[in-house]
Amino acid sequence: MKKDCAAIVLAAGRGKRMRSEVPKQYLMLEDKPIIYYALKVFQESFINQVILVTAAEEIEYCRQNIVEKYGFDKVTHIVAGGKERYHSVYEGLKAAKADYIFIHDGARPFVTEEILERAYASVCQYGACVVGMPVKDTIKIADGNCFAVSTPSRDKVWMIQTPQVFAFDVILQAYASLMEKEEELLQKSVKITDDAMAVETFTDWKVKLVEGSYENIKITTPEDLQIAKAFAL
Ligand code: C5P
Repeated sequence: MKKDCAAIVLAAGRGKRMRSEVPKQYLMLEDKPIIYYALKVFQESFINQVILVTAAEEIEYCRQNIVEKYGFDKVTHIVAGGKERYHSVYEGLKAAKADYIFIHDGARPFVTEEILERAYASVCQYGACVVGMPVKDTIKIADGNCFAVSTPSRDKVWMIQTPQVFAFDVILQAYASLMEKEEELLQKSVKITDDAMAVETFTDWKVKLVEGSYENIKITTPEDLQIAKAFAL
């Protein structure tokens, strides 16, 4: 029997890089909004509770046109997100109650039950894990003037996806510290761009990397939508 699991699905971003009037999570992929696909996977999985985080002015729209329309009855809360992704996660965390928390970008429609299973097995063992894949391209670290400074060994570089999965106390401690130290980080120009980074920065927990898939892309720019359409066929 699995432990209690909750998912926080993030859909409060403005998606400026998509250059679209409609926020990217509501753009259509086949005949459904992008956000539908991840919610459907969580709905049909072992996850017990889903917290959907949207912009404040989209809560009612989401309730009627996504959660009720498609019968996503595992969604117990629809909460307003914040300015940065980490603010949105923190708002979701306040509504979550479970042993393990799966944090997922609503703009990643191709998460699968197998990925959730791999992440579950890993979080049970390590308390903190994130899904990702080894990079295919060579990666360079650049200086401020776009000159290559170094080339990390490719077999040690992963691109990180979601879900990112943590024992409840671990992620709550990381986020509580992050909110407390936010000003300090801003002054140092440090931007927390994923949940693992919050855990790495503010706790002693080691974050395990788990295999996701090369299809588990985040739809960020118009060409991602073209790629997603090919995957969805
Ligand atoms: O901006 P980015 O593509 O990294 O966003 C990843 C996910 O986080 C998206 O699903 C987006 O809707 C969500 N997000 C959010 N609140 C923000 C910024 C992003 O929920 N303030």
